[in-house]
Amino acid sequence: MVHTYDMGLIVQKFGGSSVADAEGMKRVAARIVATKRAGHQVVVVVSAMGDTTDELIDLANQITPMPAGRELDMLLTAGERISMALLAMAISNLGHEARSFTGSQAGVITDSAHGRARIIDVTPGRIQEALKAGAIAIVAGFQGISQDTKDITTLGRGGSDTTAVALAAALDADVCEIYTDVDGVFSADPRVVPQAQKLKSVTYEEMLELAASGAKVLHLRCVEYARRYEMPIHVRSSFSTNEGTWVVKNHPEGDTMEQAIISGIAHDKSEAKITIVGVPDRTGVAARIFQSVADADINIDMIVQNVSAAATGLTDISFTLPKSEGATATAILQRIQGEVGFASIQYDDQIGKLSLVGAGMRSHPGVTATFFAAMSEAGVNIEMISTSEIRISIICRATDIERGVRAAHTAFEMDSDSEAVVYGGSGR
Ligand code: ADP
Ligand code: ASP
Ligand code: MG
Repeated sequence: MVHTYDMGLIVQKFGGSSVADAEGMKRVAARIVATKRAGHQVVVVVSAMGDTTDELIDLANQITPMPAGRELDMLLTAGERISMALLAMAISNLGHEARSFTGSQAGVITDSAHGRARIIDVTPGRIQEALKAGAIAIVAGFQGISQDTKDITTLGRGGSDTTAVALAAALDADVCEIYTDVDGVFSADPRVVPQAQKLKSVTYEEMLELAASGAKVLHLRCVEYARRYEMPIHVRSSFSTNEGTWVVKNHPEGDTMEQAIISGIAHDKSEAKITIVGVPDRTGVAARIFQSVADADINIDMIVQNVSAAATGLTDISFTLPKSEGATATAILQRIQGEVGFASIQYDDQIGKLSLVGAGMRSHPGVTATFFAAMSEAGVNIEMISTSEIRISIICRATDIERGVRAAHTAFEMDSDSEAVVYGGSGR
């Protein structure tokens, strides 16, 4: 594995906790300048300071419970603009030229889905010009401009990671470094499992499952992008110089994690569960229900269908979805209740999801048994189960999640002797 790069182009992304205050900005600027002085061309992607994005959302909600997507995006992108300008000033103080660019100026072109826009093209002409002039380019993360409407869009929470990898791919960078408030990707969230181990490497495939299961250290779309373009990602701390975690196509030879059955445990408290009670057990009914939910562009996750406790000839259908879509989904289902003829809808937002991820699962049949035994010993009741080739997920009470994660981590003998360091951030 290459740990130092020949002179080349490096994209460095700094998360909100790394630039939480003026001191943080200066620390990050020094780090960027050191990379530049080592002879590299540097493109930086920066997030909003600290918890700015959350604070802006809270502020919008004090004005209206349902802000228009266009205006909310305009508001939220301001957070990243503040960071990019301050960072450019801090770099300039250190004697180097830095030019800041909004997502739109950097050529990040998206579709028009406000709050969760997808990047459809990156045309980084102005970034290339800045590099050619010997400057450091600073790009505001998590934002772009809609190809159709020309409105400003955001890529969804945590989306600055995706900006970084998309730019790295478009610029044919040698590596994309993601600087955050922990030393890399760990075997579980170090805020929940202090004994979590830092992974030397993790494959795109494993990282995709971890990110999709709630390990917010990397944005899901960023991993999808990296896999498509085979862009190596180095996740590391901006508060230390420790080697971080490499997200790559294959584990490098000799990396012990290669043999591990489980590479990581992820948890997610952002989902809710809807149960549709007393659904007529007829062909086409499930299709009707899920079509109506899909028409509203709502992503559902797990689905379970049971024989109804209510009466024969009826079933109960439960599914999970993001809490943020709960109200919309419930309203849609109420609209088709008469037509479909089910008895009632139950909404439960006190659930959590716990997932084990590891490519080694393919060849180790005992994983489920060990996992469920650990949950049982920890007193965690399993409400739903879903699996993929390299993942097992369960739904349980939200209040059981932390205990469940720690129990699974111990059961699979992943506890390390030392404590993982969390350098900053509020975990919000
Ligand atoms: P940033 O602001 O730098 O984008 P995030 O808060 O988005 O940082 O992501 C870093 C956080 O992700 C860590 O502080 C940690 O609490 C959380 N996290 C969840 N799962 C993991 C994991 N498996 N490895 C490392 N961090 C994780
Ligand atoms: N500032 C945005 C957020 O908090 C984007 C990011 O940090 O990646 O979600
Ligand atoms: Mg993040």
